[in-house]
Amino acid sequence: MDEEIPVDVGLIYEGERIRKSNMYVDLAGPKSKGAELLLVVPKDEVEDGKVEVIGPDVDEMEEGGRYPLGIFVKVAGDKLEEDLEGVFERKLHYFCNYIQGFMHLNSRDIIWCRISKDSAKKGLKLYHVGKALIKLYKTEFDVIEKIQITFYTDDKAVDEHIARAREVYEKRDARASALKDEDVDVFYSCLLCQSFAPTHVCAITPSRSGGCGAVTWFEGRAAVKVDPNGPITEIPKGEVIDPIKGEFSGINEFVKEKSNGAIERVYLHSIFDYPHTSCGCFEAIAFYIPEVDGIGIVHRDFQGVTPFGIPFSTMAGQVGGGVQSQGFLGISIAYLRSPKFLQADGGWNRIVWMPSQLKERVREAIPEEMYEKIATELEASDLESLKDWLKQKQHPVLERLDEEAEEEAAEEETREQEAQPVATLPELTLPAQGMPIAGAPTEFTITFKNAKIYAEKVIIRRKG
Ligand code: SF4
Repeated sequence: MDEEIPVDVGLIYEGERIRKSNMYVDLAGPKSKGAELLLVVPKDEVEDGKVEVIGPDVDEMEEGGRYPLGIFVKVAGDKLEEDLEGVFERKLHYFCNYIQGFMHLNSRDIIWCRISKDSAKKGLKLYHVGKALIKLYKTEFDVIEKIQITFYTDDKAVDEHIARAREVYEKRDARASALKDEDVDVFYSCLLCQSFAPTHVCAITPSRSGGCGAVTWFEGRAAVKVDPNGPITEIPKGEVIDPIKGEFSGINEFVKEKSNGAIERVYLHSIFDYPHTSCGCFEAIAFYIPEVDGIGIVHRDFQGVTPFGIPFSTMAGQVGGGVQSQGFLGISIAYLRSPKFLQADGGWNRIVWMPSQLKERVREAIPEEMYEKIATELEASDLESLKDWLKQKQHPVLERLDEEAEEEAAEEETREQEAQPVATLPELTLPAQGMPIAGAPTEFTITFKNAKIYAEKVIIRRKG
């Protein structure tokens, strides 16, 4: 691609996975920390083409090591607007993966990058990654007139970068949550993740951002303006089929077409029946726990296990790939703050478990009366301790469980009622000739006291 870059750069490397055995270094990821951020800034704040690395670059890192990573991109241009930041930021994932021997997973403050041994041997450094990214951004988006990239690997600098990035994410998400699905006539869709989840179509509405968290309704609108033929397009809203579940004819028709008929219906705000598909880069998973008839949430950063005894990574493997998984849903953290968050399933009243770190992070979105009732890994590490906690806290799902138990008891009673005896006799004596009872005489009688006779069918025949 460029003489300056010692490895190939192109679409063919997009699906490249770097296994641990071929890893030179790990950057950010679940066992370290990191964040990516792209900002639209005034032109005089960008030194076009500049790449800076604050902290050690790859050639100064130890083979097999793990380092924190911050990626900060500044772009400027007359036609650029702030709403484009999330969409351009999401492109980092795709552009980074075009670089041979450089792997990028996830988004925002849960990124995870890896450099392969082969590419490190060829001399690939973060500096080159930056140069490649600049070229890719400028080639794909001519609205970007100036671009500058800074990588942070110094521990303190990464911490500062993460704090700045989180502030920006919060602002973007807060802006999106002020608008509701009913306030707009058009929604947006993103097909970026179809490269690895071919039937996945993200429906982006004011009340539901894309699963990766990087694309909100505002960002969708801005993206369509600058790139009308790109992976983000408009979805006409169509008829409202169910306002609570969040079913719209426009979304159903669009998703059916873009998933090649694999998905026909989508509920935006439920994890049951027709849940939204999940690709693989969702920030969190909402999962149904049948034993308590409640819903748990686990996010990508959580290293422990859910009450099911499995970690996020195992669950993610079962949920992703662009399929509808009953009782499982890949979501963004921003969706937890949506006023329509799983409203068809009971919203926060149905949430029974989430990691303590996530609970704290979205504290302001959780209704005050529910905050103390939702268990975390500190109170419930398995289903038994979860049940105990919910009982102790009088969680609203108990009412659902009670109702269900009552319904079951009523059904049982109905079944019993259905099985009423066809005759009840204080005494019934039957001759029992020839019955093969050991030690009994050949002729005898059997007397039943308080006999109840059940029969599948009773036939009454008139004599004569
Ligand atoms: S998760 Fe959805 S919004 Fe995010 S990049 Fe993938 S398809 Fe687009």
